[in-house]
Amino acid sequence: MNEEWKIKQIETRPPLKEYPDPILRRTALPVTDVCKSVRALLRGMARIMYNREGIGLAAPQIGVMRRLIIADIGEGLLSLINPEILDRRGEAFLLEGCLSLPNVGVKVTRNESIVVRGIDTAGREVTRDLSGLMARVIQHEIDHLNGALILDYGPAEHLRDRAILTHELEYDQKTKL
Ligand SMILES: [Zn+2]
Repeated sequence: MNEEWKIKQIETRPPLKEYPDPILRRTALPVTDVCKSVRALLRGMARIMYNREGIGLAAPQIGVMRRLIIADIGEGLLSLINPEILDRRGEAFLLEGCLSLPNVGVKVTRNESIVVRGIDTAGREVTRDLSGLMARVIQHEIDHLNGALILDYGPAEHLRDRAILTHELEYDQKTKL
């Protein structure tokens, strides 16, 4: 299946993969060339993420086994190709959701701050020092590239609907990574 075909498919029918789809457990491959198809794929991912009111998305979640992630916590879109965590500091504990696990929340301990390196959509290497929610989202999305899910971190809590997330847990409306 070539990339162009995938992009067409994404545009016509957003193929968001949900647990227990086995594709979510596979390891994504590095991107070797930041070409037009990769940029189109990232744009398609952003469309899906915003449509679902998510704050992050990784390519395997739409069935593309390439190391591409995006995140936007309301401070602008960050797209990273072949992201790598270079440094980690501190620990933080938070209930996370996932677009691939509707109505499921897991309390996940992650590093409070990270230094991440990747390639941007222009093909340039970028290094970002992130903390708080943005650091969390990036760690969550990189997990997706390695076949890891929030279920691997602890017991799943059933969240009946978004109201539970927004009200009882005092989350804002954007909690799905
Ligand atoms: Zn997720």
